[in-house]
Amino acid sequence: MTPLSRKIRVRDLIIGGGAPIPVQSMCATRTRDIDATVAQVNALEKAGAGLVRVAIDNATDAEALKEVRRQTKARLVVDLQENYPLAEAIAPHVDKIRYNPGHLHHLEKDTPIEKKVERLAAIAKVNGNAIRVGVNCGSIAPQFLEKFPGDQTRAIVESALFHCDLLDGFHFTEYVVSLKDSDPEKVVACNREFAKRRPDVPIHLGVTEAGLLPDGVIKTRLAFEKLIPLGIGDTIRVSLTLPNPEKYREIEWGRKILEDIAEGRFISAPGFGKGLNIISCPSCSRVENGDFVRLAEEVKRMTVYAKEKKLTIAIMGCRVNGPGETDDADLGLWCGPSTVTLKRKSHAVGSYRYNEVLPVLKKNLDQLIGC
Ligand code: SF4
Repeated sequence: MTPLSRKIRVRDLIIGGGAPIPVQSMCATRTRDIDATVAQVNALEKAGAGLVRVAIDNATDAEALKEVRRQTKARLVVDLQENYPLAEAIAPHVDKIRYNPGHLHHLEKDTPIEKKVERLAAIAKVNGNAIRVGVNCGSIAPQFLEKFPGDQTRAIVESALFHCDLLDGFHFTEYVVSLKDSDPEKVVACNREFAKRRPDVPIHLGVTEAGLLPDGVIKTRLAFEKLIPLGIGDTIRVSLTLPNPEKYREIEWGRKILEDIAEGRFISAPGFGKGLNIISCPSCSRVENGDFVRLAEEVKRMTVYAKEKKLTIAIMGCRVNGPGETDDADLGLWCGPSTVTLKRKSHAVGSYRYNEVLPVLKKNLDQLIGC
């Protein structure tokens, strides 16, 4: 059993230090669509979410989030995506700020990362926000990828540790860390190593892009069941690809997994992960076409004939993160407003309309498996 992490406060919610593990989720509505976002925040809270994350990309989203704040009492986390300077405007209206260390280099390129983190810590301190340092396999900070070539797990852990040291140096302690990957085994490896080196820091656990049901829940369980019984994990998210009206099911699954682990009910999934692996993002405010979820479901149905093949197909919901997050997959699809781009590893095969892409995907899959 690892020693207890320290307690941090998100408004009136305690995370860490052995407190009950809150389940959280993220809105997949367009943040500027205030009615839809408020409705989803409330639906997630009603399902039992301790925290609800909302992403902002620009000043319009930031303004909308202020109004969302006015209309709901839920504890809100703002996801700064690539636009960390927006923290200043939105921090007074939320309870927690999530920044991704891998996205800090996009803006104000001449400002050192240390200065950017110092600024975020100062903003959070003034406004009483907690922070999540959210490291993600699809967007690891370039300097860590360069420092640990071919060792993504090490790059994720070292990036997280570096940011803990920075925040500590600025005397900011109200933070949690997440180390996410789409591979449950890597999630276990990253979080075990991080917890060994920083047992004091509360951890937000998640398997990113876990995908469609039921595989998304199985992948998540495989990681959580190995970590939570060791005392690793202070808050969780189950990242599922679900249509908007069903987003609340992430919370239901999170609660069910925690309940099962507490009662010693673990899954047995022999052979799981040995064949075709379909990963898909949980969507967020950046999804530009609701058909993304339907496409992911169709890909799963269409590729069933190849289920024994050791290949990865990735389906991502936007053109911002989609291109980068499909690079490692054997076949990747990233979805724009009216077309879907098909890739083989980092090479783009072409862009196709939503109703034309499946036969092209099948042709490429057949070539890969030698049909
Ligand atoms: S890939 Fe795009 S739409 Fe999907 S969760 Fe990431 S940022 Fe959001």
